[in-house]
Amino acid sequence: MSPLTVWSVVLALLASALLGASLWRGTRIFRQAREYARTWLMLLSLIGVLALGSAAYAWLLLRHGAQGSDLLQAAMLLVVAGVVGIVNALGCSVVEDFARIAALEQHRSRHDELTGLPRRSFFVGLLERAIAHHDASVPKQMAVMMMDLTRFKAINDRMGHAYGDLLLQEVALRLHRTLRRTDLLARMGGDEFGAVIDPVEDPQHIAPIVEHVLAALEEPFAVQGHRADVGMSIGLAWFPDHGRDSATLLRHAKTAMLESKRRQRDLVVYSEVLEAGDRDQLDILSGLRRAVEHDELIVHYQPQVELATGRLCGVEALVRWPHSHLGLIAPDDFVPLAEEHGLINLLSDWVIDEVLEQLRRWREQGVSLPISTNISPVSLLDRRFYDTLLRGMRARTLTPGELKLEITETAVMADSERVVNMIRELVRSGIRFAIDDFGTGYSSLEYLKTLPVEELKIDKGFVLDLPGNDNDAIIVRATIDLAHKLGRKVIAEGVESRETLELLRRWGCDRAQGFHIGEPMPAEALTARLNRSDPGGLRLIAIN
Ligand code: C2E
Ligand code: CA
Ligand code: CA
Repeated sequence: MSPLTVWSVVLALLASALLGASLWRGTRIFRQAREYARTWLMLLSLIGVLALGSAAYAWLLLRHGAQGSDLLQAAMLLVVAGVVGIVNALGCSVVEDFARIAALEQHRSRHDELTGLPRRSFFVGLLERAIAHHDASVPKQMAVMMMDLTRFKAINDRMGHAYGDLLLQEVALRLHRTLRRTDLLARMGGDEFGAVIDPVEDPQHIAPIVEHVLAALEEPFAVQGHRADVGMSIGLAWFPDHGRDSATLLRHAKTAMLESKRRQRDLVVYSEVLEAGDRDQLDILSGLRRAVEHDELIVHYQPQVELATGRLCGVEALVRWPHSHLGLIAPDDFVPLAEEHGLINLLSDWVIDEVLEQLRRWREQGVSLPISTNISPVSLLDRRFYDTLLRGMRARTLTPGELKLEITETAVMADSERVVNMIRELVRSGIRFAIDDFGTGYSSLEYLKTLPVEELKIDKGFVLDLPGNDNDAIIVRATIDLAHKLGRKVIAEGVESRETLELLRRWGCDRAQGFHIGEPMPAEALTARLNRSDPGGLRLIAIN
């Protein structure tokens, strides 16, 4: 075989191999460029034909020997194959780059930028896929959870959004580490997370998983050198028992979550009873604004007595809502709703106005009875409320000291600095303060020492079962002691029996309030009892 033939065959084979390689890379990319499938198909067919042609040409040269022009043609073929190869390589890398960018974009659109977790829409899609793949013959369930951070909003407001973002990242990381690889975790927006625990062979198995999640947040977070404590309210709905589609499951999990927030519980599992409650809540919300604006709420007054003398020393104002078909609604069923949905200031204004008006009426009747009013921290921190309150007092020329505001221990601690400043300012204007539900939160002694409150109110949770409950007795006695050491008065609420009353008096408690002394009642009923010649009217006699 002449060297001419050898060179020509080698060049033609090289061209064929080069084209073959282009073809191979091109077909690999083909799947990623579906939009241009037809153009790519034409290009690849052309390359294929060229590759085959080159191979056939090499075979012909091998059989018949090459002439002078064959070497040139084979060389040209190689050059063409090279050009095709380069163009094809360029096309392929452009397609690959686009595919990479598209994948990145898709990831970005599906995942939350801050935490890297799936966003709500993607999460719903994944949940739907899990539902579609559910094998009805296997008795397994799936738990859909909605989780809402507690205390996050206050921290975010106080420490700033950048701090809040870092905290959310930390929370997401801990949650992610807690769940199994088969579970799904997503950020549903704000401080809300969603999870699908799949599979759960036995509903009993969910308890340790939830405990794990809660335990993951128990350890305080250290973000930028500042400690942050957050908790979690979890609502859970079971697939398939509580819903067979993603929308129903998520709605039910959310209903359960709102209930767990409302009841301040870690976990609430959805039930149909809750759903009815949910409908009632909507009814309540839409009616509440109207009721306030139409003056349909009422205030009941519960007597408070001085234990040493048995004398009436004040009353607590407790709001109620007489509802046309739900009956008399208790404040616990609408005050938290009003706080959550931005109606609380309207409500607080109404209550304060009513209370100040009552003080004025009593003064006209010659009755001097200070009123304690519960005040939501949201309103207390509202400058407008402060102005309304002082203006209302001035307009009625009420003497300072006739009004006492009760603020819960939890509220004081949640935003201590701002609350403390506001309390100081109001105290300077002659308003008195009591810390409500004392013992249920975690007050620091430091704050108690500096806070200008006159009175600590022992939560009824410690008082109701007092005779016979040693633990409660220890707490109540310690609180009385502590209050006195700090120079504060102490009042016990929830006094339902004579026995409890006697114990409290023996332990040196200053004041008491409860059904045994008197239930909350309309102002007129209270005044009527005051005026009655029967001294047992207010049962005050019972304690002397
Ligand atoms: P709170 O401040 O702890 O009020 C005491 C609650 O205990 C009242 O319930 C009262 O009726 C009840 N109570 C009094 N004595 C006894 C007793 O001997 N035994 C038992 N078991 N309970 C007793 P109520 O009126 O249902 O009020 C519930 C909560 O609603 C209040 O708890 C307070 O936090 C809130 N609230 C009431 N009125 C207002 C208001 O005008 N504004 C705001 N922001 N909250 C209010
Ligand atoms: Ca109270
Ligand atoms: Ca209380």
